[in-house]
Amino acid sequence: MILFKKATVLRNWLETQSKKANAIGFIPTMGALHEGHISLIRKSTAANTITVCSIFINPTQFNNEGDFQKYPVTIEKDIDMLEAAGCDVLFLPAVKEMYPEGVDGGERYELGYLEKILEGKFRPGHFQGVCMIVDRLLDIVRPSRLYLGQKDYQQCMVIKKLLDLTNKNETELEIAPTLREKDGLAMSSRNMRLTKEERSKAVAISKALFQIKNDLRPGKLSDLKKKAIDFLEAEGFKVDYVEIADAADLSIVNDWDGTQPVVVLVAAFIGDVRLIDNLIV
Ligand code: AMP
Repeated sequence: MILFKKATVLRNWLETQSKKANAIGFIPTMGALHEGHISLIRKSTAANTITVCSIFINPTQFNNEGDFQKYPVTIEKDIDMLEAAGCDVLFLPAVKEMYPEGVDGGERYELGYLEKILEGKFRPGHFQGVCMIVDRLLDIVRPSRLYLGQKDYQQCMVIKKLLDLTNKNETELEIAPTLREKDGLAMSSRNMRLTKEERSKAVAISKALFQIKNDLRPGKLSDLKKKAIDFLEAEGFKVDYVEIADAADLSIVNDWDGTQPVVVLVAAFIGDVRLIDNLIV
């Protein structure tokens, strides 16, 4: 695996490879890698000539300074995992490399409804920061395929919109299923921050999702959502939201007709760690 820290050096190297490499797969990450990330790397190595992974803890997508400061960093282990998975390139830029003009200001993206609900509502500015960094990374890597995890369901929809807004539709979006721990907890870098006690409680999030999936019947959904919120609160969570939304456009579904494909989404804090998860029904 080759490690690049400078965008222009990586771009030039990819140009020299482009005759041989007709397909570049790209996996943007914030590091502290786990098997969920590695599943995206494997999908990419199976389908592309060159797989590029980036590790960059993007300051512009954090709306909480503490969350940014405490974001786990395990770079040596990450490099070992990427090498073992057959990743060809790691892009590891410094903040100045990605934001030479500073982290304030920058582009704005017309995300509309998508940034007013769920994660957009509870993390103001988050998706603008996500778009800013992914847009810049795509300009450098220019991948044939971009790999994202369903774990961040709304983010996948935002990036799909970004590709439209920026005319980058030559890049194919590949969305991979959420990898879970044995007890059902969705793998996440933030899980590393949980204490032993918090970790054992964290499973309640996926339990709540599977419970809703199981109990879902046509008709009003408010009782189902309330039951899940009560359950999570009883387990010690501070709940941002439990919502059931149209799987295609994330419009909130209050009354289900029994056929509309929906996604159940949860965001909740255990201690000061905020976890998200979702399940397509
Ligand atoms: P992150 O490092 O958290 O920004 O995640 C980088 C990419 O990995 C994103 O596209 C995530 O959706 C994806 N990802 C994170 N957790 C999982 C998981 N448990 N299973 C599959 N993909 C994941």
